[in-house]
Amino acid sequence: MTAYEPVIGLEVHAQMRSRTKLFCGCPTEYGAPPNEHTCPVCLALPGALPVPNEKAIELAVQAGLALECEVETHSVFARKNYFYPDLPKGYQISQFELPLNGAGHLDIEVDGETKRIGITRIHVEEDAAKNIHGTGSTAVTIVDFNRGGTPLIEIVSDPDLRSSEEAEAYLRKLRDLLMFIGVNDGNLEEGSFRCDANVSIRPVGQEELGTRAELKNINSFRFVKKAIEHEIARQEGVLQSGGTVVQETRTWSEAQGKTISMRSKEEAHDYRYFPDPDLPPVVVTEERIEELRAALPELPEAKRERWQKELGLTEYDAGVLSGHPEIAKYFEEATRALLEQSGTKAKAAGKKVGNFVQAEVLRHVTTDGLEALFPVAPTAVAELLACVEDGTINGKIAKKVFASMVETGTGPKVIIEKQGLAQVTDTGAIEAEVSRILEASPAQVAQYKDGKTNVIGYFVGQVMKATKGAANPKAVNEILRRLLDER
Ligand code: ADP
Ligand code: MG
Ligand code: ZN
Repeated sequence: MTAYEPVIGLEVHAQMRSRTKLFCGCPTEYGAPPNEHTCPVCLALPGALPVPNEKAIELAVQAGLALECEVETHSVFARKNYFYPDLPKGYQISQFELPLNGAGHLDIEVDGETKRIGITRIHVEEDAAKNIHGTGSTAVTIVDFNRGGTPLIEIVSDPDLRSSEEAEAYLRKLRDLLMFIGVNDGNLEEGSFRCDANVSIRPVGQEELGTRAELKNINSFRFVKKAIEHEIARQEGVLQSGGTVVQETRTWSEAQGKTISMRSKEEAHDYRYFPDPDLPPVVVTEERIEELRAALPELPEAKRERWQKELGLTEYDAGVLSGHPEIAKYFEEATRALLEQSGTKAKAAGKKVGNFVQAEVLRHVTTDGLEALFPVAPTAVAELLACVEDGTINGKIAKKVFASMVETGTGPKVIIEKQGLAQVTDTGAIEAEVSRILEASPAQVAQYKDGKTNVIGYFVGQVMKATKGAANPKAVNEILRRLLDER
């Protein structure tokens, strides 16, 4: 049986975070009542003329810069002609022959290896409106034009991806990056980040690409992965049974768990692209491009590298903490505050904050696109960890204090004080407790004397129980060993 290799190229439509639409002043805000955000321009009333949105163009330049694209100083808007009820002008304004951003790339990590995925181009275009299909016997379809004219970038990848895992990694990385630089809000549910996947297979070793199917508008990372896997399997089935794959557009049906044909190449559109006579070429000067580059925040990749070098994080931890811009900011603020509050070295502080944020804080964090809700302020976490650093409490108690902080919104010091959680470092008190426990456990003491030294764990447990976890573990261990050896 022939072995096949999958080949995947992705086209991502990402909505840009500009306040207004691409060619008119209507707001882009999501969730308004239908047809509230419309005007003669985005409804294509006769005589209305488009005016390009400078902010949107600049966001698209920043996306290009973050993906190391060749940014063009001159690009051109064209008309892509087709008929559909969600397109009032009868054409979509998009960039075709001369896009704003040329070739770039994005590095992804899969199975611990880095792979560079080529970006073919990133062009600017307007979104279509939204058809809302009714159901039932008297069903009608209504059109909501609020979304029509929303600024998008389309990011086209080279056919460099070789598995559904690589495709998913690419999409996640791309979304995180666009969120990080503030170009996109990363909200898949609201449709601000949408993906078409082009999938083909070819015999392993063959250079020439196979015939592809284009999977349209898959709106969750999980569905993208499933849809691609099913499509690869479907094409393998076709080839193995002696058939040929036809070029077509398919869609993923979650209900049926498979891809379904929408239209074949024969029905494919001829868009009759031509430069839009209403719009002059888009000009972005070299100086402006450099200003926009300088205005970009530190990118996640750079953050990860710096955190590993300066703050002692592992690659994995750095990856988790840089996944969302607000989480990255939280981590950095907590680390900075801990450094200010304690004599800890940068690497130790970063590691401690990193561990604590991942183990305790992230469980309580909810993110919604670019928004993130944290249970407590980063400075409060730093204050808590400073109490561990100076020996007031141990790590175990810190988790308990944190739970109270989340519940009550009170600062750590007040909780430690009120609940009497400060660590017992008074060796006299610990010694008395240890003596009492050794006295009460002759069998375990005998085991220890027989060389079964790991029974010490039992004693530590007893002391911790007796002191409600407040004893300093290091002191407990030292005292236990000393008193046992004295026996
Ligand atoms: P179209 O204009 O019809 O969408 P493009 O040639 O611009 O087609 O390609 C769109 C996407 O399809 C790109 O991401 C590209 O990498 C990918 N692609 C092109 N050919 C193949 C193929 N044979 N197999 C998989 N992906 C492909
Ligand atoms: Mg396409
Ligand atoms: Zn409008």
